[in-house]
Amino acid sequence: MQIWPMQAEADSFYGNPRGVHGAPSSAWESDNLVSFTPPFQMHYANQPIQHFKIHTKCHDSLVRVFDAIWQAAGQRQILIDRWGVSIFGGSYNFRLMRNSNRLSMHSYGCAIDLAPDRFSMGAALPRFAPEVLDAFHAEGWINLPHDRMHFQAARLK
Ligand SMILES: [Zn+2]
Repeated sequence: MQIWPMQAEADSFYGNPRGVHGAPSSAWESDNLVSFTPPFQMHYANQPIQHFKIHTKCHDSLVRVFDAIWQAAGQRQILIDRWGVSIFGGSYNFRLMRNSNRLSMHSYGCAIDLAPDRFSMGAALPRFAPEVLDAFHAEGWINLPHDRMHFQAARLK
């Protein structure tokens, strides 16, 4: 299994995405981000999307994650929809962590949010279907316990 870096090691593993004046580095973006095409239909803000940006080091792993979910669903879109995996909530997005001056893992393109309406912050919220969690965990991706819509290719400990 892929061993992802600790969050604190994200700069050395994924590169430094910081540009000038609090903006992202466009050079880092063009060197490190690639387009990911999901094997099933996804939506963002009720609009269909065909692809989204992800760090090049995460791309092939995310292909395996999404393929595993697609196979576990028997390639049935209706099951993907029921599991909430078709609702894209964001991947690369240059921003700080909540209540912190550190960069969010979204700033490195190594995180993805799914079905934010269903699985956002809070401990009492539902969990993803085991098929979904298993697919991410098999590739070493972490589902944050306090932010269940969020999967990342970086370790907390
Ligand atoms: Zn997130």
